[in-house]
Amino acid sequence: MTTCQFSRFLNDSNTLPAPRVRWRAAAVATLISVGLVIAIPAIGQAATATSICLTGKLNYDHNNAEAGTSKPLVTLPARNANWELWGRTESTGSPQWLASGITGVSGGEFNACFDTTTPLQDTFVRFYSASTSVWRVIKSTTDQTQYTFDTAHQASVSASKDLGTVKVPASMQRAWNIVDTLNLLYWNRANPSTPCWTRHQVWGSCDTLTFVWSQDATTGGYWDFGTKYVIMNANQPDSQHFILHEAGHWFQWRLYNRTFPVVTGCNPHYIEKSSSTSCAWTEGFADAVAAYVLGDYRFVFDNGTSFSIANDPNSPGWDPGDTVQGRVGASLLDFWAAGGPDGGNWDRTIDLMSREFSQDFKEYFVIDRPIAVPPLSTTGAAKTIIQNHTIFY
Ligand SMILES: [Zn+2]
Repeated sequence: MTTCQFSRFLNDSNTLPAPRVRWRAAAVATLISVGLVIAIPAIGQAATATSICLTGKLNYDHNNAEAGTSKPLVTLPARNANWELWGRTESTGSPQWLASGITGVSGGEFNACFDTTTPLQDTFVRFYSASTSVWRVIKSTTDQTQYTFDTAHQASVSASKDLGTVKVPASMQRAWNIVDTLNLLYWNRANPSTPCWTRHQVWGSCDTLTFVWSQDATTGGYWDFGTKYVIMNANQPDSQHFILHEAGHWFQWRLYNRTFPVVTGCNPHYIEKSSSTSCAWTEGFADAVAAYVLGDYRFVFDNGTSFSIANDPNSPGWDPGDTVQGRVGASLLDFWAAGGPDGGNWDRTIDLMSREFSQDFKEYFVIDRPIAVPPLSTTGAAKTIIQNHTIFY
């Protein structure tokens, strides 16, 4: 039950590519929460200018591994995904960028408008595999470009037009599945300070979580420690658990303000088998991120098979102790569960991790939980939880 691998062999770089200039505005918070639109003002426009809009909903097809090995095809809204409105107000020339925005969070709605006194010529909506500059999917580590496609060009539009449902082309549907799935982690990031992923980032200059994916990729399934990118092969995005597990590694690195436990003895690693304390802590946390965000105790593979992280001292085939990622992951999930000792969510652990680095689960439990403000429990129900998962401190 290998869930992912590490690579520490590529060039180390803490410098992420600059986000697209249009998305560097400090309006990320507003954009990301309500799907607002920004538009360039029409210079010298007459008072009689009217707003012409192309509207619709952006959807994508998804082979749903979470539903089992048949991976039934479902159609889902692509939420918080970037769009641009292009067109021209002159009778000749090339289409120009007119406006940008992100799709809505209920149905992937877009409402791409431009104020003009003349009909829009050769106008269309262009979609990108990114959400503002906070996360994105690129084609390769060398190419760095996002996936993009345009709606059919409208020769001349003199009034707003509903384009209906726009479907992401099948060849790139998984890019938008990644973009949409990462909303689930973003909405649970438990950072009340800024619209960024963690409290370490300043409003207006959030770090970008980057996934590298292509439909013909034959290798992937890991967070690359050199580039800090998640690398996924062709069909791995069919599993939302897989996407969120890998994002969870990046999230832990970012909570620790660009540091990460020194991980040894982690290749391969298995949910129910002993690896090392550092591997079990980082992989167990990533497993717990995916399960917590999706509301279960599973890891789901991209072929639709799944493995339960839940365990007790008598679980057959399970090794004991804190070198087992499933023991660590299930302990975390129990801490955060409704009725659990941490108040029914993971928020206080996320806050603690953004302030205190832990090399392994023992340090998190024994040293760091007690110095949270107020302290997180290490006795009573919390102690019972880890003992139920064969961990004794
Ligand atoms: Zn992993």
